[in-house]
Amino acid sequence: MKGMLLRGGRIIDPANKRDEVGDLAIVDGKIAAGVNGDGYEEINCTGLVVAPGLIDLHVHFREPGQSAKETIATGARAAAAGGFTTVVCMPNTSPAVDNPSVVTWIREKAEREACVNVFTTGAITKGIAGEELAPIGSMARAGIVALTDDGHCVQNHELMRRALEYARMFQLPVLDHCQDYGLVGKGVMHEGYWSTLLGLPGWPSAGEELIVMRNILLAELCETPIHCQHLSSGQSVRLMREARARGVVITGEVCPHHIALTDEALQGFDTNFKMNPPLRAQRDVDALIQGIADGVVTILASDHAPHCAYEKEVEFDMAPFGIVGLETELGLFIDILVHKKKAIDLPRLIALMTVEPAKLLRLDRGTLSVGAAGDVTVIDPGLEWKVDAEKFESRSANTPFQGWEIKGRAMRTIVAGNTVWGG
Ligand SMILES: [Zn+2]
Repeated sequence: MKGMLLRGGRIIDPANKRDEVGDLAIVDGKIAAGVNGDGYEEINCTGLVVAPGLIDLHVHFREPGQSAKETIATGARAAAAGGFTTVVCMPNTSPAVDNPSVVTWIREKAEREACVNVFTTGAITKGIAGEELAPIGSMARAGIVALTDDGHCVQNHELMRRALEYARMFQLPVLDHCQDYGLVGKGVMHEGYWSTLLGLPGWPSAGEELIVMRNILLAELCETPIHCQHLSSGQSVRLMREARARGVVITGEVCPHHIALTDEALQGFDTNFKMNPPLRAQRDVDALIQGIADGVVTILASDHAPHCAYEKEVEFDMAPFGIVGLETELGLFIDILVHKKKAIDLPRLIALMTVEPAKLLRLDRGTLSVGAAGDVTVIDPGLEWKVDAEKFESRSANTPFQGWEIKGRAMRTIVAGNTVWGG
């Protein structure tokens, strides 16, 4: 085959403000202006949306070190099944991604084994211990796309300031998991009515908001952008809205579980509802959705965090934080944000999952411009389906959405002109 011709779909390419029914050609792995003669694989996309390949900038693929939970290969298959052509891994592996040799190891393994594009971040501090800066320059040369201590949070503000100054020298975006350790302590769920009732230690919203505020002040001081990961608190959105209004370059992302669920879901002590930051109150959910609607929140992500069943099948206090997310993310976002809440339209949703993360990470992706990578996601926004974790491509099944009926999903995922999932 010379290439691929996607026929008659609704082409939505927010980077080029394009939204029209038409044909899209991919030739030699790149988006092409048209086809030349025949011999192309023709795909009927009537009634479907043809979008740039989706990007998820927040996943945990657990390699090196914890391949029983997930591997780069299985994580990439989960991504493809969820409609993602590009993912960005967090550095809290074992060992951590805090030096150039681990960066190279991941990149080479991804090159050999992953069916989607896999990029990695590097840690801000050595061992993600928050004490000493990691070798940022040599990791930048080895190919990291951003810095973050995700899973942890740098508590020393002076160290964070120096990290920002180094990051700027290497033009690396800084992402932050916002958690004040003193205030959060051993909290395992949102501090509020339900934590009191259930007798579980609380993780107060202020534990996130304090670090969001710290990041706003440091972004302003260093004139360097900071991206706040997996926002859970409504007050965080308010702080960011005010800061952005006065010109501070601060961005944030929201994950599906923080808008699909509240802390009330913890009544059954099911550890598949335990994540960090935790599920919060309805007013937080409403504020996060409002932040997405009015443009304060510009990126959507999964925080895909696989764990083995035996690790989650313990007392609530003891269980690890996190849930898998790649295979339910797109459907939940379409269902909640577009169909049910009508917070944003489909083109905006696609922008939050393509051009916006690409812009933040300076990735040459997330668009259907002629000459761009032939990464495409074909979506049926109206398809109703039921979540079945048994069928997940991920090596883990720790989802709180088992059995949910969701409207909207990816039908085909194409990377560099090759179908890697669906069809
Ligand atoms: Zn995190």
